[in-house]
Parts: sequence; C-alpha cells; structure tokens
Amino acid sequence: MTPAPARVLIDGDELRTGVARLGAELSAAYPRGMVLVAVLKGSVCFLADLVRFVTVPCEVDFLAISSYAEGTGRVRIVKDLDTDISDRDVVLVEDIVDTGLTLTYILGELERRGPRSLEVCALLDKTARRIVPTPLRFVGFPIEDEFVLGYGLDYAERYRNLDQVVAGDLAALRAEPDAHVEELFSR
Ligand code: 5GP
Repeated sequence: MTPAPARVLIDGDELRTGVARLGAELSAAYPRGMVLVAVLKGSVCFLADLVRFVTVPCEVDFLAISSYAEGTGRVRIVKDLDTDISDRDVVLVEDIVDTGLTLTYILGELERRGPRSLEVCALLDKTARRIVPTPLRFVGFPIEDEFVLGYGLDYAERYRNLDQVVAGDLAALRAEPDAHVEELFSR
C-alpha cells in the first residue's frame, strides 16, 4: 500500500509562535505561578517548549496513562504525580484532545485531589470528533479531523521527533507503521 504523502499542517515556526502565545496566556492568567501537569509521552515536546515561554514560577509534573482498549476512553494511571496538588493552581498540558474521553477521565482523577483550580492547555484541538464536551481554557491550534504525527505525537512510537505537525495516512500506517519514515526522515 503506497501511503498518501504526509502533509505539513503546522511547521516549526508556527508551532513556536503558538506555544509562545500559550506561554504568555498562562503567565498572565497565573501571576503567582502554577503546576503544569503533562501527560506522557505525547506532551513532552510541547511541555519542554511551553515552560520556556512561561515567565512566572511554575512547577512541572508528569502523569502516564494506558488505555484498556482503543476508543473506549477507559484508561488507568500507570505513573502518578509526585506532587500533592491539593489547593494548588493546576494546568493539565495535553498534546491533543480528540473525543475528550481521556481528558475527562484525567480531569476527574485530578479534581478528586482538591486543586484550587484546574484548567487545560491543549496544543491541538480536534473539535469535530468531540464526544464529551470538554472546556479547554488554553488552545494552541484547532485542527480538522485528521490523524496527526510529530512534535511528540506518534504512531507506534515513531515520528515523535519531527519538528512539525503533519497529517498522516492512518490506513497506510495501520498496514505499515513505518509508512511515512522514508519521506519524513532523511536516512
Ligand atoms: P481522546 O481520548 O481525546 O479521544 O484521545 C486522546 C489521545 O488519543 C491523545 O492524547 C493521543 O494520545 C491520541 N490521539 C488522538 N488523536 C490523535 C492523532 O491525530 N494523532 C496521534 N498521534 N494521536 C492521537
């Protein structure tokens, strides 16, 4: 199966501009600082860039989750926070919000811990696919219903290290996870 060529949706410069804007928005919203909670692994590039545009004190912590079955939204925490977030201003940093099921689960978990406030900062927002209404206070880029790769986002652990967000051919990737490797990486 020959994959449709990957299309660049957001290049590196656009990513930097968008992430800088989000850093400024966070800094303005939380003058006394906040705890940024990032979801591994997809949010790592985003978080690493975002913190350098935050100009108020901020702490960083990580959560890792694993899905029981694709599309069910049933997830469990496989790496929990080290930080006690009770009475703290917390911002959940997500790579992409699609159906909203994962986010809803994580927000429920964090809310039970009694943060002073809890908001979401998402790099990419695929609104068309939303099943659960999810308030996203900070959004980098709304995108269409496409399968995206790069800047932390993977398919079968590939493509995370692209400095851009591209739309991939999901059918071709399902058949061959390396389908876009040749065109996207010079070897
Ligand atoms: P949701 O629960 O909102 O449907 O899905 C959230 C998770 O699905 C994201 O954190 C991400 O791991 C994965 N995901 C959703 N859409 C995409 C996409 O277009 N590309 C990639 N690589 N992962 C996605």
